[in-house]
Amino acid sequence: MSDGTKKPNGSLSRRELLAASVLAASSLAILGAGSAEAQLAKKAKQNIAGYQTTPKGRQQCDNCRHFQAPNACQVVESPISPTGWCRLYAKK
Ligand code: SF4
Repeated sequence: MSDGTKKPNGSLSRRELLAASVLAASSLAILGAGSAEAQLAKKAKQNIAGYQTTPKGRQQCDNCRHFQAPNACQVVESPISPTGWCRLYAKK
């Protein structure tokens, strides 16, 4: 029964289901990588954002809503310093 051929009633064999699952998982992995690359492409360059490695008064990356510990930012290219600052700062 499980010889890998298509069943006469039109349903998929176990082998076909496995192949379809592998294809779907591969497609999701490719889409996921594309999304990550797209997100990287959307981030501002540090010099464009006016990034500096020192705080501006009390404003610094680790109290900004865009900060992602330990040294990344949602909107500016990483790495950044937790004690840095840029013009896109937004208080948490
Ligand atoms: S101050 Fe600028 S670089 Fe730092 S976390 Fe906020 S947006 Fe990102």
